[in-house]
Amino acid sequence: MAESDHRVMIGLEVHVQLNRLNTKLFCGCRAEYQGLPPNTNVCPVCLGLPGSLPVLNKLAVNHAIMVAKALNCTISRSFNFVRKNYFYPDMTKNFQISQYEKAGGVPVAHSGWLGFANDSLERRIRIRRIQIEEDPGRLEHPEGIGSSKYVLVDYNRAGVGLLEIVTEPDLASPDEARVFIQKLRSVLEHLGVCDTSREGAIRADANVSVDGGNRVEVKNISSYKEIVKAIEFEVLRQTKIIEAGGSVSRETRHWVEAKGMTISSRQKEEEQDYRYFPEPDIPVVSLDEDALQRIFDSMPELPDARAKRFVEQYGLKSYDANVLVLDKGLADYFEETVRLYTNPKTVANWIQSEILRQLNEKKIEINQLAVTPGYLAEMLHMIETGEISGKIGKRVLVEVANTGLPPRVVVERLGLTRIADVEFIRRVAEEVFRENPDAVEDAKRDQEAVNYLIGQVMKKTRGRADPEVANKVVRQLLNGG
Ligand SMILES: [Zn+2]
Repeated sequence: MAESDHRVMIGLEVHVQLNRLNTKLFCGCRAEYQGLPPNTNVCPVCLGLPGSLPVLNKLAVNHAIMVAKALNCTISRSFNFVRKNYFYPDMTKNFQISQYEKAGGVPVAHSGWLGFANDSLERRIRIRRIQIEEDPGRLEHPEGIGSSKYVLVDYNRAGVGLLEIVTEPDLASPDEARVFIQKLRSVLEHLGVCDTSREGAIRADANVSVDGGNRVEVKNISSYKEIVKAIEFEVLRQTKIIEAGGSVSRETRHWVEAKGMTISSRQKEEEQDYRYFPEPDIPVVSLDEDALQRIFDSMPELPDARAKRFVEQYGLKSYDANVLVLDKGLADYFEETVRLYTNPKTVANWIQSEILRQLNEKKIEINQLAVTPGYLAEMLHMIETGEISGKIGKRVLVEVANTGLPPRVVVERLGLTRIADVEFIRRVAEEVFRENPDAVEDAKRDQEAVNYLIGQVMKKTRGRADPEVANKVVRQLLNGG
Protein backbone atom coordinates (compact mmCIF):
# COMPACT_ATOMS: atom_id res chain seq x y z
CA MET A 1 0.00 0.00 0.00
CA ALA A 2 1.16 3.47 -0.77
CA GLU A 3 1.51 6.09 1.93
CA SER A 4 -1.38 8.00 0.41
CA ASP A 5 -3.74 5.09 1.18
CA HIS A 6 -3.38 5.91 4.86
CA ARG A 7 -5.19 8.66 6.67
CA VAL A 8 -2.63 11.01 8.17
CA MET A 9 -3.38 13.64 10.81
CA ILE A 10 -0.77 16.23 11.67
CA GLY A 11 -0.99 19.05 14.17
CA LEU A 12 1.77 21.58 14.67
CA GLU A 13 2.97 23.70 17.55
CA VAL A 14 5.05 26.31 15.80
CA HIS A 15 7.36 28.51 17.83
CA VAL A 16 7.99 31.85 16.18
CA GLN A 17 10.65 34.18 17.55
CA LEU A 18 9.60 37.81 17.75
CA ASN A 19 13.02 38.73 16.45
CA ARG A 20 12.06 42.08 14.90
CA LEU A 21 11.75 43.58 18.38
CA ASN A 22 14.69 45.47 19.82
CA THR A 23 14.56 43.83 23.20
CA LYS A 24 13.60 40.59 24.92
CA LEU A 25 10.07 39.97 26.20
CA PHE A 26 10.49 41.13 29.81
CA CYS A 27 13.82 43.01 29.99
CA GLY A 28 16.04 45.40 28.05
CA CYS A 29 18.49 42.80 26.70
CA ARG A 30 18.79 42.56 22.94
CA ALA A 31 16.39 40.36 21.01
CA GLU A 32 19.09 39.70 18.43
CA TYR A 33 21.43 37.32 20.22
CA GLN A 34 22.98 35.46 17.29
CA GLY A 35 26.75 35.72 17.07
CA LEU A 36 27.29 37.20 20.54
CA PRO A 37 29.77 35.57 22.94
CA PRO A 38 27.91 33.14 25.24
CA ASN A 39 26.15 34.61 28.29
CA THR A 40 26.86 38.25 27.44
CA ASN A 41 23.28 39.21 26.51
CA VAL A 42 21.81 38.72 29.99
CA CYS A 43 20.57 40.71 32.99
CA PRO A 44 19.05 39.97 36.41
CA VAL A 45 15.55 39.70 34.89
CA CYS A 46 16.26 37.13 32.18
CA LEU A 47 18.57 35.28 34.56
CA GLY A 48 15.75 35.26 37.12
CA LEU A 49 17.87 36.65 39.94
CA PRO A 50 16.01 37.22 43.23
CA GLY A 51 14.36 40.63 43.49
CA SER A 52 14.21 41.27 39.74
CA LEU A 53 10.85 42.02 38.17
CA PRO A 54 9.75 41.37 34.57
CA VAL A 55 8.17 44.22 32.58
CA LEU A 56 6.13 43.20 29.54
CA ASN A 57 7.36 44.47 26.15
CA LYS A 58 4.29 46.31 24.74
CA LEU A 59 5.46 46.02 21.15
CA ALA A 60 5.59 42.23 21.57
CA VAL A 61 1.87 42.35 22.37
CA ASN A 62 1.27 44.44 19.22
CA HIS A 63 3.15 41.91 17.13
CA ALA A 64 1.20 39.03 18.67
CA ILE A 65 -2.09 40.81 17.93
CA MET A 66 -1.11 41.39 14.30
CA VAL A 67 -0.29 37.70 13.88
CA ALA A 68 -3.56 36.71 15.58
CA LYS A 69 -5.56 39.01 13.29
CA ALA A 70 -3.73 37.72 10.19
CA LEU A 71 -4.57 34.17 11.29
CA ASN A 72 -8.25 35.07 11.69
CA CYS A 73 -8.21 34.44 15.44
CA THR A 74 -10.50 35.68 18.19
CA ILE A 75 -8.37 38.09 20.20
CA SER A 76 -8.80 38.07 23.97
CA ARG A 77 -9.75 41.54 25.25
CA SER A 78 -8.07 40.60 28.50
CA PHE A 79 -5.33 38.01 28.98
CA ASN A 80 -2.67 37.03 31.46
CA PHE A 81 0.58 35.15 31.85
CA VAL A 82 1.26 31.92 33.73
CA ARG A 83 4.29 30.19 35.14
CA LYS A 84 5.14 26.87 33.58
CA ASN A 85 7.27 25.20 36.21
CA TYR A 86 9.97 22.77 35.26
CA PHE A 87 13.46 21.92 36.38
CA TYR A 88 15.86 22.06 33.46
CA PRO A 89 19.04 24.07 32.98
CA ASP A 90 17.77 26.09 29.98
CA MET A 91 15.85 28.35 32.40
CA THR A 92 17.60 29.61 35.54
CA LYS A 93 14.28 30.55 37.17
CA ASN A 94 13.03 26.94 36.99
CA PHE A 95 9.92 28.24 35.30
CA GLN A 96 9.03 29.79 31.96
CA ILE A 97 6.66 32.73 31.71
CA SER A 98 4.06 31.58 29.24
CA GLN A 99 0.33 31.53 28.61
CA TYR A 100 -2.21 28.78 29.13
CA GLU A 101 -5.87 28.17 28.43
CA LYS A 102 -6.59 26.36 31.72
CA ALA A 103 -5.88 26.90 35.44
CA GLY A 104 -6.98 30.54 35.27
CA GLY A 105 -4.91 31.27 32.18
CA VAL A 106 -6.19 33.15 29.12
CA PRO A 107 -3.96 33.22 26.00
CA VAL A 108 -3.77 36.26 23.70
CA ALA A 109 -5.86 34.63 20.96
CA HIS A 110 -7.67 31.47 19.92
CA SER A 111 -9.92 29.84 17.28
CA GLY A 112 -8.49 31.08 13.98
CA TRP A 113 -7.45 29.61 10.66
CA LEU A 114 -4.85 29.91 7.93
CA GLY A 115 -5.93 29.20 4.35
CA PHE A 116 -3.91 28.16 1.33
CA ALA A 117 -4.33 26.39 -1.97
CA ASN A 118 -2.74 22.98 -2.43
CA ASP A 119 -3.18 21.03 -5.68
CA SER A 120 -6.04 23.40 -6.57
CA LEU A 121 -7.70 22.41 -3.29
CA GLU A 122 -8.63 25.28 -0.97
CA ARG A 123 -7.52 24.32 2.51
CA ARG A 124 -8.19 25.95 5.85
CA ILE A 125 -6.10 24.79 8.78
CA ARG A 126 -7.68 25.70 12.10
CA ILE A 127 -5.56 27.50 14.68
CA ARG A 128 -6.42 26.37 18.20
CA ARG A 129 -4.61 29.16 20.03
CA ILE A 130 -1.72 31.58 20.00
CA GLN A 131 0.26 32.30 23.11
CA ILE A 132 3.08 34.64 24.03
CA GLU A 133 5.98 33.18 25.96
CA GLU A 134 9.69 33.55 26.56
CA ASP A 135 12.34 31.53 24.77
CA PRO A 136 14.58 29.39 27.01
CA GLY A 137 18.36 29.46 26.80
CA ARG A 138 20.31 27.22 24.46
CA LEU A 139 21.96 23.99 25.52
CA GLU A 140 24.95 22.83 23.57
CA HIS A 141 25.95 19.20 23.49
CA PRO A 142 29.50 19.44 22.11
CA GLU A 143 29.53 15.81 21.04
CA GLY A 144 25.87 15.47 20.15
CA ILE A 145 22.78 14.74 22.26
CA GLY A 146 23.27 11.57 24.29
CA SER A 147 26.98 11.16 23.69
CA SER A 148 28.39 14.35 25.21
CA LYS A 149 30.14 14.03 28.56
CA TYR A 150 29.07 17.56 29.42
CA VAL A 151 26.58 20.18 28.28
CA LEU A 152 27.17 23.90 27.82
CA VAL A 153 24.47 26.46 28.41
CA ASP A 154 24.07 29.90 26.85
CA TYR A 155 21.41 32.25 28.24
CA ASN A 156 21.71 34.89 25.50
CA ARG A 157 18.46 33.60 24.02
CA ALA A 158 16.66 33.21 27.37
CA GLY A 159 13.75 35.65 27.55
CA VAL A 160 13.46 36.43 23.83
CA GLY A 161 9.79 36.79 22.85
CA LEU A 162 8.13 33.78 21.25
CA LEU A 163 4.70 33.10 19.83
CA GLU A 164 3.47 29.57 20.10
CA ILE A 165 0.97 28.90 17.34
CA VAL A 166 -0.98 25.69 17.90
CA THR A 167 -2.97 24.17 15.05
CA GLU A 168 -5.74 21.59 15.17
CA PRO A 169 -4.65 18.24 13.63
CA ASP A 170 -5.96 19.32 10.22
CA LEU A 171 -2.88 18.78 8.07
CA ALA A 172 -3.36 15.64 5.99
CA SER A 173 0.12 15.07 4.57
CA PRO A 174 3.75 16.17 4.92
CA ASP A 175 3.28 18.15 1.70
CA GLU A 176 0.37 20.06 3.21
CA ALA A 177 2.52 20.82 6.25
CA ARG A 178 5.15 22.21 3.87
CA VAL A 179 2.69 24.61 2.21
CA PHE A 180 1.25 25.59 5.60
CA ILE A 181 4.69 26.50 6.92
CA GLN A 182 5.50 28.41 3.72
CA LYS A 183 2.28 30.39 4.01
CA LEU A 184 2.83 31.06 7.71
CA ARG A 185 6.38 32.27 6.99
CA SER A 186 5.07 34.55 4.29
CA VAL A 187 2.46 36.03 6.66
CA LEU A 188 5.12 36.63 9.33
CA GLU A 189 7.50 38.20 6.81
CA HIS A 190 4.78 40.45 5.40
CA LEU A 191 3.84 41.57 8.92
CA GLY A 192 7.51 42.27 9.65
CA VAL A 193 7.39 40.49 13.01
CA CYS A 194 9.92 37.75 12.26
CA ASP A 195 12.99 37.39 10.10
CA THR A 196 12.30 33.73 9.43
CA SER A 197 15.70 33.14 7.83
CA ARG A 198 17.55 33.63 11.13
CA GLU A 199 18.81 30.54 12.90
CA GLY A 200 16.18 29.26 15.35
CA ALA A 201 13.54 31.77 14.20
CA ILE A 202 10.95 29.06 13.50
CA ARG A 203 10.91 25.81 15.44
CA ALA A 204 8.19 23.26 15.91
CA ASP A 205 6.78 20.22 17.60
CA ALA A 206 4.56 18.00 15.47
CA ASN A 207 1.79 15.62 16.50
CA VAL A 208 1.51 12.83 13.98
CA SER A 209 -0.96 9.95 13.81
CA VAL A 210 -1.73 7.49 11.02
CA ASP A 211 -5.07 5.70 10.48
CA GLY A 212 -6.49 6.98 13.76
CA GLY A 213 -3.74 5.27 15.74
CA ASN A 214 -1.87 6.68 18.70
CA ARG A 215 -0.56 10.19 18.46
CA VAL A 216 3.20 10.62 18.54
CA GLU A 217 4.68 13.94 19.50
CA VAL A 218 7.86 14.81 17.61
CA LYS A 219 9.86 17.43 19.48
CA ASN A 220 13.01 19.36 18.85
CA ILE A 221 12.49 20.35 15.22
CA SER A 222 14.78 23.33 15.11
CA SER A 223 14.15 24.98 11.76
CA TYR A 224 11.36 25.32 9.21
CA LYS A 225 13.38 23.31 6.73
CA GLU A 226 13.42 20.35 9.11
CA ILE A 227 9.67 20.34 9.83
CA VAL A 228 8.68 18.55 6.63
CA LYS A 229 11.60 16.10 6.84
CA ALA A 230 10.68 15.16 10.42
CA ILE A 231 7.02 14.67 9.53
CA GLU A 232 7.86 12.63 6.42
CA PHE A 233 10.06 10.35 8.48
CA GLU A 234 7.46 9.93 11.21
CA VAL A 235 4.58 9.22 8.82
CA LEU A 236 6.67 6.59 7.06
CA ARG A 237 7.77 5.02 10.36
CA GLN A 238 4.19 4.72 11.59
CA THR A 239 2.93 3.49 8.21
CA LYS A 240 5.50 0.68 8.23
CA ILE A 241 4.48 -0.40 11.73
CA ILE A 242 0.80 -0.47 10.75
CA GLU A 243 1.43 -2.36 7.51
CA ALA A 244 3.45 -4.95 9.43
CA GLY A 245 0.39 -5.51 11.60
CA GLY A 246 1.74 -3.68 14.65
CA SER A 247 0.35 -0.74 16.53
CA VAL A 248 2.04 2.60 17.16
CA SER A 249 2.66 3.39 20.81
CA ARG A 250 1.84 6.77 22.21
CA GLU A 251 5.12 8.48 22.97
CA THR A 252 7.30 11.53 22.62
CA ARG A 253 10.09 11.31 20.08
CA HIS A 254 12.94 13.65 19.23
CA TRP A 255 13.96 14.69 15.75
CA VAL A 256 17.68 14.09 15.34
CA GLU A 257 18.63 16.38 12.48
CA ALA A 258 22.08 14.88 11.90
CA LYS A 259 20.65 11.38 11.47
CA GLY A 260 17.45 12.42 9.71
CA MET A 261 15.29 10.33 12.04
CA THR A 262 13.09 10.51 15.13
CA ILE A 263 14.15 8.61 18.24
CA SER A 264 12.11 7.70 21.28
CA SER A 265 12.84 10.03 24.19
CA ARG A 266 13.04 8.58 27.63
CA GLN A 267 11.63 11.39 29.70
CA LYS A 268 7.99 12.23 29.36
CA GLU A 269 6.28 15.26 30.79
CA GLU A 270 2.58 15.27 31.46
CA GLU A 271 0.79 18.57 31.61
CA GLN A 272 0.13 18.39 35.33
CA ASP A 273 3.87 18.10 35.94
CA TYR A 274 4.22 21.75 34.97
CA ARG A 275 2.07 23.06 37.88
CA TYR A 276 0.81 26.03 35.90
CA PHE A 277 -0.35 29.02 37.90
CA PRO A 278 -0.96 32.71 37.07
CA GLU A 279 2.25 34.77 36.99
CA PRO A 280 1.96 37.15 39.97
CA ASP A 281 4.61 39.63 38.75
CA ILE A 282 2.86 40.66 35.52
CA PRO A 283 -0.52 42.44 35.64
CA VAL A 284 -3.40 41.23 33.49
CA VAL A 285 -3.28 42.90 30.05
CA SER A 286 -6.51 44.61 28.93
CA LEU A 287 -7.01 45.89 25.39
CA ASP A 288 -9.47 48.60 24.49
CA GLU A 289 -11.20 48.64 21.12
CA ASP A 290 -9.50 51.84 19.92
CA ALA A 291 -6.05 50.46 20.62
CA LEU A 292 -6.92 47.25 18.80
CA GLN A 293 -8.29 49.14 15.84
CA ARG A 294 -5.11 51.22 15.63
CA ILE A 295 -3.06 48.03 15.46
CA PHE A 296 -5.32 46.57 12.75
CA ASP A 297 -5.10 49.80 10.76
CA SER A 298 -1.32 49.73 10.92
CA MET A 299 -1.09 46.24 9.42
CA PRO A 300 0.65 45.96 6.04
CA GLU A 301 -0.68 44.12 3.00
CA LEU A 302 -0.90 40.37 3.63
CA PRO A 303 -0.14 37.57 1.13
CA ASP A 304 -3.77 36.85 0.13
CA ALA A 305 -4.51 40.52 -0.57
CA ARG A 306 -1.24 40.81 -2.44
CA ALA A 307 -2.02 37.79 -4.63
CA LYS A 308 -5.40 39.33 -5.45
CA ARG A 309 -3.66 42.59 -6.37
CA PHE A 310 -1.17 40.72 -8.59
CA VAL A 311 -4.11 39.30 -10.53
CA GLU A 312 -5.84 42.67 -10.89
CA GLN A 313 -2.83 44.94 -11.38
CA TYR A 314 -0.54 42.70 -13.42
CA GLY A 315 -3.00 40.29 -15.05
CA LEU A 316 -1.35 37.22 -13.57
CA LYS A 317 -3.20 33.95 -13.22
CA SER A 318 -4.38 33.29 -9.69
CA TYR A 319 -2.19 30.19 -9.42
CA ASP A 320 0.95 32.12 -10.45
CA ALA A 321 0.14 34.99 -8.10
CA ASN A 322 -0.22 32.55 -5.21
CA VAL A 323 3.11 30.89 -5.97
CA LEU A 324 4.83 34.28 -5.85
CA VAL A 325 3.28 35.50 -2.58
CA LEU A 326 4.09 32.24 -0.80
CA ASP A 327 7.57 33.72 -0.42
CA LYS A 328 7.64 37.45 0.40
CA GLY A 329 11.15 37.75 -1.02
CA LEU A 330 9.99 36.29 -4.33
CA ALA A 331 6.95 38.58 -4.47
CA ASP A 332 9.18 41.61 -3.76
CA TYR A 333 11.62 40.43 -6.44
CA PHE A 334 8.78 40.15 -8.94
CA GLU A 335 7.50 43.66 -8.28
CA GLU A 336 10.98 45.17 -8.39
CA THR A 337 11.70 43.51 -11.73
CA VAL A 338 8.35 44.63 -13.16
CA ARG A 339 9.21 48.23 -12.27
CA LEU A 340 12.26 47.91 -14.57
CA TYR A 341 10.77 45.70 -17.27
CA THR A 342 7.08 46.23 -17.68
CA ASN A 343 5.89 42.88 -18.94
CA PRO A 344 4.61 41.21 -15.76
CA LYS A 345 3.66 37.90 -17.35
CA THR A 346 7.10 37.40 -18.87
CA VAL A 347 8.74 38.30 -15.55
CA ALA A 348 6.47 35.90 -13.65
CA ASN A 349 7.26 33.09 -16.11
CA TRP A 350 10.99 33.58 -15.78
CA ILE A 351 10.80 33.69 -11.98
CA GLN A 352 8.70 30.54 -11.79
CA SER A 353 10.92 28.57 -14.13
CA GLU A 354 14.56 29.69 -14.35
CA ILE A 355 14.84 31.70 -11.13
CA LEU A 356 13.18 29.04 -8.95
CA ARG A 357 15.39 26.40 -10.59
CA GLN A 358 18.48 28.39 -9.56
CA LEU A 359 17.20 28.71 -5.99
CA ASN A 360 16.51 24.97 -5.79
CA GLU A 361 19.84 23.97 -7.31
CA LYS A 362 21.84 26.34 -5.14
CA LYS A 363 19.63 25.79 -2.08
CA ILE A 364 19.50 29.52 -1.40
CA GLU A 365 16.90 32.20 -0.78
CA ILE A 366 16.05 34.80 -3.41
CA ASN A 367 17.96 37.58 -1.61
CA GLN A 368 21.14 35.48 -1.92
CA LEU A 369 20.83 35.07 -5.69
CA ALA A 370 23.36 37.00 -7.79
CA VAL A 371 20.71 37.63 -10.46
CA THR A 372 19.27 40.87 -9.08
CA PRO A 373 15.96 42.28 -10.37
CA GLY A 374 18.09 44.80 -12.32
CA TYR A 375 20.04 42.00 -14.02
CA LEU A 376 16.93 39.99 -14.85
CA ALA A 377 15.27 43.10 -16.32
CA GLU A 378 18.41 43.89 -18.36
CA MET A 379 18.45 40.38 -19.78
CA LEU A 380 14.76 40.43 -20.65
CA HIS A 381 15.35 43.69 -22.54
CA MET A 382 18.13 42.00 -24.53
CA ILE A 383 15.76 39.18 -25.47
CA GLU A 384 13.03 41.64 -26.42
CA THR A 385 15.30 43.63 -28.71
CA GLY A 386 16.52 40.43 -30.36
CA GLU A 387 20.10 40.83 -29.15
CA ILE A 388 19.94 37.33 -27.71
CA SER A 389 17.41 34.54 -28.10
CA GLY A 390 15.25 33.27 -25.25
CA LYS A 391 17.21 30.04 -25.25
CA ILE A 392 20.51 31.89 -24.92
CA GLY A 393 18.85 33.96 -22.20
CA LYS A 394 18.50 30.86 -20.04
CA ARG A 395 22.21 30.20 -20.43
CA VAL A 396 23.05 33.81 -19.64
CA LEU A 397 20.95 33.65 -16.49
CA VAL A 398 22.85 30.59 -15.26
CA GLU A 399 26.16 32.38 -15.94
CA VAL A 400 25.01 35.52 -14.12
CA ALA A 401 23.89 33.38 -11.18
CA ASN A 402 27.28 31.63 -11.08
CA THR A 403 29.53 34.64 -11.62
CA GLY A 404 27.56 37.67 -10.44
CA LEU A 405 28.57 39.48 -13.64
CA PRO A 406 26.02 41.71 -15.40
CA PRO A 407 24.18 39.95 -18.29
CA ARG A 408 25.69 42.29 -20.89
CA VAL A 409 29.20 41.38 -19.80
CA VAL A 410 28.37 37.67 -19.85
CA VAL A 411 26.94 37.93 -23.37
CA GLU A 412 30.06 39.74 -24.61
CA ARG A 413 32.55 37.46 -22.88
CA LEU A 414 30.93 34.27 -24.08
CA GLY A 415 30.20 35.71 -27.54
CA LEU A 416 26.53 34.91 -27.29
CA THR A 417 25.08 37.75 -29.31
CA ARG A 418 22.52 36.59 -31.82
CA ILE A 419 23.82 36.21 -35.38
CA ALA A 420 21.56 37.74 -38.00
CA ASP A 421 24.32 38.04 -40.64
CA VAL A 422 22.81 36.27 -43.68
CA GLU A 423 26.20 35.65 -45.37
CA PHE A 424 27.65 34.05 -42.26
CA ILE A 425 24.62 31.83 -41.75
CA ARG A 426 24.71 30.85 -45.45
CA ARG A 427 28.35 29.71 -45.09
CA VAL A 428 27.39 27.61 -42.05
CA ALA A 429 24.39 26.15 -43.91
CA GLU A 430 26.56 25.23 -46.90
CA GLU A 431 28.87 23.37 -44.55
CA VAL A 432 25.88 21.53 -43.05
CA PHE A 433 24.70 20.60 -46.57
CA ARG A 434 28.15 19.19 -47.45
CA GLU A 435 28.20 17.09 -44.28
CA ASN A 436 24.65 15.75 -44.65
CA PRO A 437 24.04 14.81 -48.32
CA ASP A 438 21.40 12.21 -47.41
CA ALA A 439 19.38 14.66 -45.38
CA VAL A 440 19.60 17.18 -48.21
CA GLU A 441 18.24 14.56 -50.61
CA ASP A 442 15.39 13.67 -48.18
CA ALA A 443 14.63 17.34 -47.56
CA LYS A 444 13.28 17.68 -51.08
CA ARG A 445 10.25 15.58 -50.01
CA ASP A 446 10.38 15.48 -46.26
CA GLN A 447 9.69 18.42 -43.92
CA GLU A 448 11.33 16.51 -41.03
CA ALA A 449 14.63 16.53 -42.90
CA VAL A 450 14.34 20.28 -43.51
CA ASN A 451 13.92 20.82 -39.80
CA TYR A 452 16.90 18.59 -39.17
CA LEU A 453 19.09 20.75 -41.43
CA ILE A 454 17.91 23.96 -39.74
CA GLY A 455 18.61 22.30 -36.38
CA GLN A 456 22.17 21.53 -37.51
CA VAL A 457 22.72 25.18 -38.46
CA MET A 458 21.49 26.25 -35.01
CA LYS A 459 23.75 23.67 -33.38
CA LYS A 460 26.84 24.81 -35.29
CA THR A 461 26.23 28.37 -34.17
CA ARG A 462 25.56 27.22 -30.59
CA GLY A 463 22.01 28.49 -30.79
CA ARG A 464 23.10 31.99 -31.77
CA ALA A 465 21.83 32.04 -35.36
CA ASP A 466 18.62 33.96 -35.82
CA PRO A 467 16.17 31.07 -36.34
CA GLU A 468 14.16 32.96 -38.96
CA VAL A 469 17.27 33.71 -41.02
CA ALA A 470 18.48 30.11 -40.70
CA ASN A 471 15.10 28.87 -41.86
CA LYS A 472 15.11 31.16 -44.89
CA VAL A 473 18.71 30.35 -45.87
CA VAL A 474 18.21 26.57 -45.69
CA ARG A 475 15.07 26.77 -47.87
CA GLN A 476 16.84 29.01 -50.39
CA LEU A 477 19.72 26.52 -50.67
CA LEU A 478 17.30 23.62 -51.11
CA ASN A 479 15.63 25.52 -53.92
CA GLY A 480 19.03 25.88 -55.51
CA GLY A 481 19.41 29.52 -54.46
ZN1 LIG B 1 17.76 40.47 30.27
